[in-house]
Amino acid sequence: MSTAELDLLIRTRRDLHRHPELGFQEHRTAAIVAERLRAAGYEVKTGVAETGVVGTLRGAGAGPTLLLRADMDALPIEEECAHDFASTHAGVMHACGHDAHVAIGLAVAERLARTRGEWGGTVRYVFQPAEEGGGGALRMVEEGVLDGVDAALGLHVWLGMESGVVGVVPGPFMASAGTFEITLRGRGGHGALPHETIDAVLVGSQVVVALQSIVSRNVSPLESAVVSVGTFRAGGAQNVIADTARLTGTVRAFDVDACAELPRRIERVVAGVCSALGAEYGFGYVQDTPPTINDPALAEAVRLAAEEAVGAERVRTDPDVRTMASEDFGEFLLRVPGCYFFVGARNEARGAVHPHHSPRFDVCEDALPVAVDVLERAARRVLGGR
Ligand code: MN
Repeated sequence: MSTAELDLLIRTRRDLHRHPELGFQEHRTAAIVAERLRAAGYEVKTGVAETGVVGTLRGAGAGPTLLLRADMDALPIEEECAHDFASTHAGVMHACGHDAHVAIGLAVAERLARTRGEWGGTVRYVFQPAEEGGGGALRMVEEGVLDGVDAALGLHVWLGMESGVVGVVPGPFMASAGTFEITLRGRGGHGALPHETIDAVLVGSQVVVALQSIVSRNVSPLESAVVSVGTFRAGGAQNVIADTARLTGTVRAFDVDACAELPRRIERVVAGVCSALGAEYGFGYVQDTPPTINDPALAEAVRLAAEEAVGAERVRTDPDVRTMASEDFGEFLLRVPGCYFFVGARNEARGAVHPHHSPRFDVCEDALPVAVDVLERAARRVLGGR
């Protein structure tokens, strides 16, 4: 990468880091993206899914339509990093690296524009709002960004791997995410007179324990799934038996069928425990994101591109690269073949060790030019020559 290109890449990332914006509020970011894409020769559509930007560029001949995607949103977190490009927006922070994704995306978009005489087909560069729980990807799908798309590629800078290492795995790559809410109604009363009550704390406790049997006894040991209870609220005084309890949690799976089956299992466990103990229940479930499942042929294209860019010894394809974290890029991969991959951004010496969504999250910036090289090469492989 040239000094000028690298300088622009890092300056862009730091500028975006200084000015993070929450989902569907990425107005400044979107304006920067639209201006750079227009200057590079892209046909630009703004206001897609509110703040999303879509740039289209045709190559020099026939070929597929390739969607490339960068997510733009930050998180409602107060930054605790001391660097001179720390967030200037109180309570908002790029704590997942989406600032790097936008900077990488613009660099790749500009490279493809400079070389458009050398490749065929069409590039549709999607800068997406609201990945962090806002459903930005699905909104963009509903507004037609996948119409005519043959393949999709995207990446995440990843603290789970050393800076500059590339991780790509065919098949399930990131898990689905769903949220459940269980309300339990017993009968409250005096703490000294339990026989006159239906104790919602006891019912809730049995529910928590019984839910553990789903992953251990209903899901095949060869499959991966998670059922985690995150909150359990009940009671208001130490000598009063609670009449209600409310539990919420998250469900993760790699398999599309398991996504549908797990909430049914959870409700059945809740119904059984409540029936046994005489309580009533309410059950709510929202499927937040589908699993992110990579097409084997496109994962292979990314692997070959990564080997060219960083050498085979810096490319990981083992199953441990995968994660039960979720990513709404899965909405695209549910509908078109594609590949999502990781570019390691961990660097102990530079303090880039804190996990995603930590107030001290930071990425090793050496990962950014690597990500640009790999994504551009992977895109060129998919688009083909003229
Ligand atoms: Mn993210």
